[in-house]
Formats: sequence, C-alpha cells, structure tokens
Amino acid sequence: MRPVRRIAWLALLLPSCAGAPPAPVKPLRDFRGVLHVHSFHSHDSKGTFEEILAACRKRKIDFVCMTDHPPKGDPDRSLREGWRGLHDGVLFIQGHEYSDQLLGVGIRETVHGTRQEKIDAIHAQGGLAFVCHPEEVKEWDFDRFDGMEIWNTHARVKEIQKDLKQMGALLNAAKKDLEQAWLSILKRPDANLAKWDELNAKRLVVGIAGNDAHQNVNVLGLQIDPYDVSLGFVTTHVLAEELTEESVLAALKAGRVYVAFEFVAPADPRWAVPERILEATGEAGHGRDAGVELVGIMDGFVRYEATRDGKLWQFGNPMRPK
Ligand SMILES: [Zn+2]
Repeated sequence: MRPVRRIAWLALLLPSCAGAPPAPVKPLRDFRGVLHVHSFHSHDSKGTFEEILAACRKRKIDFVCMTDHPPKGDPDRSLREGWRGLHDGVLFIQGHEYSDQLLGVGIRETVHGTRQEKIDAIHAQGGLAFVCHPEEVKEWDFDRFDGMEIWNTHARVKEIQKDLKQMGALLNAAKKDLEQAWLSILKRPDANLAKWDELNAKRLVVGIAGNDAHQNVNVLGLQIDPYDVSLGFVTTHVLAEELTEESVLAALKAGRVYVAFEFVAPADPRWAVPERILEATGEAGHGRDAGVELVGIMDGFVRYEATRDGKLWQFGNPMRPK
C-alpha cells in the first residue's frame, strides 16, 4: 500500500475510463441502492416484489437491481414480468445472474455463450456487466466487464458455515438481535480487494456490493435473512442526476459509486468527495475526521476505505488523475 500523494489528489475530479458516458450536466444527487437481489422468479427464492418494495421503503433504498437466475424453460420470464421503473418511489431495474459469475443489469433479454459473449451481449442491450462471486472465478480470461462485487454477503456466510462453532454463535446471536448478528459477519474482503486493485491498475473496474438477497434462510422458524435486513445491511450508493434507470446505470458505469455498511452507521456522501478526503488524509494517505478512519490506496488510481470504531464502513471507488 503506497501513500496517497497530494499532487494526485489535487488532480482528481471524477473517475475516467475508456468509453465513459458523457459527463453529467445536472447536479448529482446521492441515491441509495442495492444490487444482486432475487425474487420468486429464481428457483431459490419465494420473495415477492411487494416484500422487496416494503424492505426498500423501510431502509430508504432508492433503487434495486434485480438479478434473478434465468427461469428454466422461459429464461426471459423474470425480465418480462418482473417489476421495472418506479414503484412507490423505488426504482426497479431488471437483470439476471448467470451461473458463470456474471450479473447483467438493465437488460431486456437473456444472453448466452461464453462469459465474454455474455458481457458483449449485455452491452449491446445497453446493460452493464458485473462479476459476482469473484471468489469463484478461476480464470480471469475475459474483459470489458463494467465492475465486480467487492463484497458478497452470501459468500461471506458460506465462509462462516465452514466453521460449525462460528455458525452456531451466529445463529445464537441472531435469536437475540438479528442486526447485531449480521454486523458480526463483517470482515474486510481482502482477496476481492486485492483483485479489484489489480484490475484497476489497468482500467476502471467499478466496485459494488452484492446483497445476494433471497430471503430463503429459515432456521427452526427464525428467518435469518428477511429482505429488510439483507438489503439494509450493505448498500451501493450512486451519485446520479436523477432516479431513472438511464441515470443510475450511467453513474454505475462511470464509477460514481461507493459501498456502505449501513448497520455500522448511515452512509455519508461527503466521503464520496475527493477534496474532503484529501483534507482528512493529507500527504500520509491516512487520517481521522469526526470518528472516521480513512485509508487511501494508490496504484495509478486513488480509492479510500473508511472505518468507524474499527468496523468496515465505506469503500470509495477508484478515481484517477485526469
Ligand atoms: Zn445470487
């Protein structure tokens, strides 16, 4: 980890990448979103859109990117029949999760072929391609994807499941206080972040959180993963012009994005502003401000990680000197 140099910070404005969408014209607003969400259209969920909407309303989530597994026999069904557009103030964007660790977000038809063919077919429809479950990707022999999950809740729980003692403690904690139990699974995703930094040394690869919400884990009558908990736990914020599919996708593509673990503390968009981080971290690339610990990481780009009371809190996306 190299320290952040002031000169690089001063040159920062907005992230840049090849083929970036046009610069925004209207003032940017902070929208709280979730990506990687399953409904009853997936074989492994019974969740309804009404339940997802209620959870979003409770957690003040502005947009939700649905990523159902393509239904067997009629893969387009979820894209055709799933909610799109604004519902009671919450924007629904449709997409798919493919079994080769890809999310297609903002698509209208299912895509086929190799990973690379899928990525290109997603783009041909104006959608975005994100790598999900990066820990399962053996060969990174594909390119042109827009981003990757730097966090996937399901993957973290699978890790805990390997240790029966840890899993037992988690279930016990869940009986007492579900939100506290979820907080206890927080751990810096070292391997994902290392891969993310490696990719970003070459080009912008946008980091998102994968909620991977199914509302399908019930242990002895206790629902461990109700949508309002799995969606509220971690969010992906965008700085976008307006709450429309087009504007949210443009922000996601451009990397005007940060990830926040909101059971630690509500997200604070001020930490998405490079100048504020510069003020706090200075030359050393490390600093404290109002109880927030910041670490800047630079490798041809700059990004930050913010912790509160030693707990992971916010991850900024890479920004490059213009
Ligand atoms: Zn999933």
